Amino acid sequence: MFVPRSLKVRRNANDDGRSCTAKKVKPEAEDPQLGAGGDGPADDASGTKEAALAAHHGAQPCPLPGPASQVPEGGLAGPGQRAQDSDLLEEPVKSFSKTQRQAEPGEPVCVVCGRYGEYICNETDEDVCSLECKAKHLLQVRGAEAPLAPGGPQKAGSEPAAPHPASYVYTEHAFISNLREDQIENLRRQLGIVVQGPGVPRPIIDFEHCGFPEALNLNLKTSGYEVPTPIQMQMVPLGLLGRDVLASADTGSGKTAAFLLPVIMRALFQSKMPSALILTPTRELAIQIERQAKELVSGLPRMRTALLVGGLPAPPQLHRLRQRVQVIIATPGRLLDIIKQGAVELGGIKIVVVDEDKKLFKPPVLVFVDCKLGADLLSEAVQKITGLKSTSVHSEKSQPERKNILKGLLEGDYEVVVSTGVLGRGLDLVSVKLVVNFDMPPSMDEYVHQVGRVGRLGQNGTAITFINNNSKRLFWDIAKRVKPTGSLLPPQLLNSPYLHDQRRKEQQKDKQMQNDLVTGANLMDIIRKHDKSNSQK
Ligand code: AMP
Repeated sequence: MFVPRSLKVRRNANDDGRSCTAKKVKPEAEDPQLGAGGDGPADDASGTKEAALAAHHGAQPCPLPGPASQVPEGGLAGPGQRAQDSDLLEEPVKSFSKTQRQAEPGEPVCVVCGRYGEYICNETDEDVCSLECKAKHLLQVRGAEAPLAPGGPQKAGSEPAAPHPASYVYTEHAFISNLREDQIENLRRQLGIVVQGPGVPRPIIDFEHCGFPEALNLNLKTSGYEVPTPIQMQMVPLGLLGRDVLASADTGSGKTAAFLLPVIMRALFQSKMPSALILTPTRELAIQIERQAKELVSGLPRMRTALLVGGLPAPPQLHRLRQRVQVIIATPGRLLDIIKQGAVELGGIKIVVVDEDKKLFKPPVLVFVDCKLGADLLSEAVQKITGLKSTSVHSEKSQPERKNILKGLLEGDYEVVVSTGVLGRGLDLVSVKLVVNFDMPPSMDEYVHQVGRVGRLGQNGTAITFINNNSKRLFWDIAKRVKPTGSLLPPQLLNSPYLHDQRRKEQQKDKQMQNDLVTGANLMDIIRKHDKSNSQK
């Protein structure tokens, strides 16, 4: 697993042109081999490499950790190292131009796109806004020499120029092989790449290092992918080698292409169809992934994708599926429906359906609302927006209907059931692990029954309760009931004047009761008072 964390080079806001160079801050110790000057391979490709990293900004070294000697064994960044890094690097360098803001008047502007020139290209001293623009800028200044700088692609048993070789085996590019181990460690450290596991291949620095067919290289360029992002640098060679990978990186860091590129390469050279199945938790994500896949495979032979997601009509999806596709992008619910119908020949892909499907699903969620219409509307909205299989239960549904829904709930046919109070009592819904009180019920008694649908038979469960001023008369009761469970209560509830008022009233009542109670201490007073009032009569 690795967590990319790009490096940031900040322009001092007070700098003028000259002193700016002198005050440039460098986030990591300059590696003599990966940094400026020196012989050998690092130097040969410094252009491409630097374009990818934008991490060497030279004049003023910062008090920074030493190079490879301080990296824990195996190239994994240790916690001390990472804490130091995070002190130095408040924010990651922006990868893409579109994520940079516009320049304010008087601020430096990017020489490529005109946005805020937050960084300085160490090689040319020009202002750039992001890694993407730095790469473009370097390509521009180097003209034709730069794009293929590190050498041609390496394909097993074929000439690099071959349009579409019969097979593909990922071979480490000579440029990467020629780097020393400490250079690789330094590179990973600078890019925040942390790896675990045996025999992790070296990262690539340029897409050209992968030996992709020209059409794919072209598609990458057309999509604006000039240089790989850190997650792509490390994950693409792993994927191309067919290794199992568990990867984690920030949103927007290029994870999709990181797994799509190996998937595409495998699909290109495999005759079995389909050759890849991409499962995503939501329909939106699946659509997004398919869009990116289509961009990357444009012009490549025999590359077809199919989208299998809920919330859209199934027949066109099935039709597409039957036309022999290489890559399927699916949500689990729709895929399982299709598998159950026997409508898909998954060819090379082996799918193990565990215990008649149901264990592939997350436990269902039971949502309580306060009226029938609310139940119908919310269930519909959940299905539409999330693609989760949802239904509603209320008193207008017939008994057989309710029975069927309950059966479906227990068997994992529904991911969400929205109910009025009818499911609130008595039932043992052991598969439910989460109850949401979308509307707070009118009484504490009802509330206790509803949240009691989870955590049955000594199992753990979670309840999430939405409250608003409609249930303000229960605020103090809710706090009293929920607080002892260790649950977090929102400050809006704890600070509510209603809650304080209710607590005060309760305390007064308690005090009154205390006063009315006969104890050894007040017994004589009570008798005296009694005698006095009798004698007055
Ligand atoms: P992702 O994190 O996969 O959602 O990607 C975020 C965005 O970055 C998407 O719009 C991608 O098209 C784009 N992207 C991914 N990799 C690169 C790259 N190497 N260079 C430029 N853009 C990229």
